[in-house]
Amino acid sequence: MSVAHAVPTGTCRPLDRSAPVFVAGRNGLVGSALWRLLTAEGFSSLLGPTSTELDLRDRPAVFEWFTKHRPHVVILAAARVGGINANNTRPTDFISDNLMIQVNVLDAALRNGVQWLLFLGSSCIYPKYAENPIREEALLTGKLEPTNEAYAVAKIAGITQVRAVRRQHGLPWICAMPTNLYGPGDNFHPVHSHVLPSLIRRFHQARTERSPKVVNWGSGEPRREFLHSDDLARACLLLLEGYDSDSPVNVGTGEDLSIRELSDLVASVVGYEGAVEWDTSQPDGTYRKVLDISRITALGWAPTIKLADGIADTYAWYESAGL
Ligand code: GDP
Repeated sequence: MSVAHAVPTGTCRPLDRSAPVFVAGRNGLVGSALWRLLTAEGFSSLLGPTSTELDLRDRPAVFEWFTKHRPHVVILAAARVGGINANNTRPTDFISDNLMIQVNVLDAALRNGVQWLLFLGSSCIYPKYAENPIREEALLTGKLEPTNEAYAVAKIAGITQVRAVRRQHGLPWICAMPTNLYGPGDNFHPVHSHVLPSLIRRFHQARTERSPKVVNWGSGEPRREFLHSDDLARACLLLLEGYDSDSPVNVGTGEDLSIRELSDLVASVVGYEGAVEWDTSQPDGTYRKVLDISRITALGWAPTIKLADGIADTYAWYESAGL
């Protein structure tokens, strides 16, 4: 049973714009979007050490950093992330790094009395066969998708730790569960990235090299939902300022499309006109995992970036980054 809190769900509690805010994972896809938003919103004391400056897996270093910088707000957007291939072939890294990052940051935040904390999970925490659209209540009700089980178990441990802190220490820490994300600053690694940046890279390369065909992974039949990182960042701020419950909150668009349809869309944005083949020896993963977003929309948030526009924006970033 969760403890009662002074701030009920839906109550506005504006954050002090001058308070130190730690964006853990500041250079990642989500962290960089948060940084853009918080800067635009007037937050004047953002803290975002790089992984070289602070390795979040190093417990003594994390505790020392918290003691020195004393953040009032923590957004835990740091994680080892990757696409279906990386998750499937490197499960040890995904469970170990993520557990270390989370437990160190959450423990140090608790030790330092951090009042406002948002932990970011992922829609892959939900059971493989959860009813779609997936509601928050589906958490821990069934078997996970095997290709990303290690990552999902680590994220579920993080949610459980946040809930434990709420129950034992009465702090209003919260969790958000974003769907598949994309945007500027994404990882475009040819093998380890998620599908959307992978397709941008593949179609761009094929167009540039005038290749007559590309080969995508799997059957193209699975369906996925994609949210732009800037939309997620707005949801994070809204939740920090207006949500207080031990239930995680889904953040997505509530709409999905097949990987084949996504492939067509990315090809058209990138301007690739060649053939597309599918390598069915590669795993498909979960067939469908579209989120029910009624909880966050009831709080006044809605996605604003259309997928085609977001892909164009991400492609522009990819080209300018010269990756
Ligand atoms: P998932 O949502 O955890 O399954 O992660 P991904 O974003 O890596 O993959 C989503 C779907 O896209 C899976 O069905 C993949 O098989 C499919 N897919 C097709 N081509 C690619 C590709 O080039 N890279 C990745 N990562 N996935 C691809």
